[in-house]
Amino acid sequence: MSRRKGSCLCGALRYEIEWELEGELDGVWLCHCSNCRKASGGTGNAIVIVPRERFFWVSGEDHRVTYELRPTYSITRCKTCGTPLPAEEDETNVYLTAGTLDDPIGVGIKTHIFCGSRADWDHDMDGVRRFDERSS
Ligand SMILES: [Zn+2]
Ligand SMILES: [Zn+2]
Repeated sequence: MSRRKGSCLCGALRYEIEWELEGELDGVWLCHCSNCRKASGGTGNAIVIVPRERFFWVSGEDHRVTYELRPTYSITRCKTCGTPLPAEEDETNVYLTAGTLDDPIGVGIKTHIFCGSRADWDHDMDGVRRFDERSS
């Protein structure tokens, strides 16, 4: 079992997850619900579900701010840089924001949820222009 690192944009918050072999955990989930679209400002949230006992704060755990937005929806961000952070939403799992991972995890997107709430501009990437960096 190896540890994979993650952090927020400013580096105040750092965490690690214990990650075994590819396929052991359930890949990346993309949530397209309207709450996640608003909270991320993009297509939604990219989440990795990690068992609580495999998630470890390294620094900055007290540097988080949580917004309770709906009875069943809250977001947690870094106080300094606003990065959306892993949310500890239930007793069993941590819902880790995949974009905060610094290390590769060896598994890709496996699941899309709330596809019925997808924005009309959020469609499959087949046939869409792609660039390794910003286009000129
Ligand atoms: Zn930060
Ligand atoms: Zn969502």
